Amino acid sequence: MNKSGVPLYFPTTLPIGTIGDLLAGCTSMLESEGVAEPAREAREIVASILDVPKFWAAANSVADASPDVARAVIRAAMQRALGAPLPYAVGRAAFRHLTLQVDDRVLIPRVETEVLVERVLERCTRATRRVADIGTGSGAIALSLAFEHEFERVFATDVSLDAIHVAATNAATFGKSLKSPVEFRHGSLLAPLESEKLHAIVCNPPYVSFAELPDLPADVRDWEPSLALLSAQDGLSVTRELVRQAPRLLTSRGLLAVEVDVRRAGTVAEMVSVDGRYCEVEVLFDLTGRERFVFARRV
Ligand code: SAM
Ligand code: GLN
Repeated sequence: MNKSGVPLYFPTTLPIGTIGDLLAGCTSMLESEGVAEPAREAREIVASILDVPKFWAAANSVADASPDVARAVIRAAMQRALGAPLPYAVGRAAFRHLTLQVDDRVLIPRVETEVLVERVLERCTRATRRVADIGTGSGAIALSLAFEHEFERVFATDVSLDAIHVAATNAATFGKSLKSPVEFRHGSLLAPLESEKLHAIVCNPPYVSFAELPDLPADVRDWEPSLALLSAQDGLSVTRELVRQAPRLLTSRGLLAVEVDVRRAGTVAEMVSVDGRYCEVEVLFDLTGRERFVFARRV
C-alpha cells in the first residue's frame, strides 16, 4: 500500500533482462503516469538502488539486471509514479558522507542541513564532548556528527517513536564506522536529557507555520510527516521552547545551533539575544546565501 491507499501490485517473477531493458520499462511506466523527465528519473532510480553514480545506468545498459534489482527498481518506479518523493520511493537518501535509509516516517534530510552540520563541526574541539541532536528524524545530524568527529557521546532524541526506530536502524547499519557512540532517547525537546550536561545542542526543528502549509510543494506537503514540518505560533513554537530550555543543559560557552526558516532568522536571533542567557548570537547562511541558521553560546 502507499500513502493514497492504492494497493501496489508488482510481479513476483520478472523476465531477467539488461539494465537497458529495465531503464526502458521504467521510463515508459513513469511516462504513462505523467512523470516529467521519465528517462532521467529512471536512471536516477537505478543509480540509487544500485548505489552507483547517476550516469552509470546509461553507460552500462548491456549489463545484466538481477531479478532482485529489477524488482526493487520496478517497485520504486511505481511509488514514484504515484507521486512519492524519490528518496521515499528508493528508500534511501544521501546526507554528507552517509546513505541513510528513509521512509515516510521521517523527513528527507535536506542539503541545507548538511551545512548546519558543517558549521557545528567547525566549532567542535576536543573539549566538545557531549552533544545532542534534538528531533533527529532519520538520524542525519546525529549520525553525521558521530561519523565525522570523536565525541564522548552523541544523544539523538525525537518525540516520534517511528523516527527513533528509523534513526536507530541507520545507526546499527553504520555500527563501528561511527567515531562516537550514539544514544537514542524518546521524548519532547530536552525532557529526555533532563539530567545531562551538554557542550552543544543542535536542532533542525519543524518551522513551517500552519498558514504556509498550502504553499509547500505537493511532494513535501502530501508525503512528509507533518510533525517534522509544522509548528504552531507562526512556525516558531518548537524553536521558542528549545531556546527557553537549552540554557539549563548547556555548559558555560556551550553551543546552541538551530536551523530556521529564512523568513524568520531575524526573529529567532532576536529571541535568543533577548533571552539574556546567551552570547555571541550569529545568523549563518546556507550555500545559496540565505539566512538559515542561528548559533549562540551559553553565557
Ligand atoms: N533532524 C532531522 C533532519 O534534519 O533531517 C529531522 C528534522 S525534522 C525538520 C524535525 C524533527 O523533529 C522530526 O523528526 C519530528 O518528529 C521532531 N519533533 C517535532 N517536535 C518535536 C519535539 N517537541 N521534541 C522532539 N522532537 C520533535
Ligand atoms: N526545509 C523544510 C522544507 O522544505 C522544512 C523542514 C523544517 O521544518 N525543518 O519545507
